[in-house]
Amino acid sequence: MIYIGIGANLGDREKTLQEAVGILDAHPKIDVAAASSVYETAPVGVVDQPHFLNAVLQIRTRLSARKLLNCLLAVERQFGRVRQTRWGPRTLDLDILLYGDAVIHQPGLQVPHPHLHERAFVLIPLCDLNPDLKHPVLGHSIQFLAGSLCDSPVRKIEGLNVIKK
Ligand code: ATP
Ligand code: CA
Ligand code: CA
Repeated sequence: MIYIGIGANLGDREKTLQEAVGILDAHPKIDVAAASSVYETAPVGVVDQPHFLNAVLQIRTRLSARKLLNCLLAVERQFGRVRQTRWGPRTLDLDILLYGDAVIHQPGLQVPHPHLHERAFVLIPLCDLNPDLKHPVLGHSIQFLAGSLCDSPVRKIEGLNVIKK
């Protein structure tokens, strides 16, 4: 299974997440199979910016990891994302977290996502979807990794959905 992290901290964050998920699901080769709850997260790194809404999607796709990444970057651009500072504010961030058991080290493409195991805003939503899933490099389950976090906590936002009902 393939997992995508989705985040937004500028503008109408919920609308952005829902529209982005709609665009991904409308892609002929991408099927959004499930979505986690939505979580609010204080920013890391560059802390002087609005809070993020984050969620994780489980998708099915026949696209290679590289083609999928290109597609995610194109969707980010549709939302007017301009890359300025790393970890800075953005209308939309789409990351490949896991691509099955694949381990990829290519220029511009690292899978599993290199920060997956240390980020509450990724591990907690992943736990909603599949707590027993094993990190293909570290060998630990997502639940175990979430339990060993020192990261700042995330807050579940009840009633928010990235898949528009
Ligand atoms: P972080 O990677 O720490 O979450 P970020 O999401 O803010 O930071 P970006 O500016 O969105 O970083 O991405 C920088 C580059 O990371 C992208 O252009 C992309 O080529 C590369 N990248 C490498 N591995 C991945 C991955 N698994 N998913 C998404 N982007 C990746
Ligand atoms: Ca990111
Ligand atoms: Ca990114």
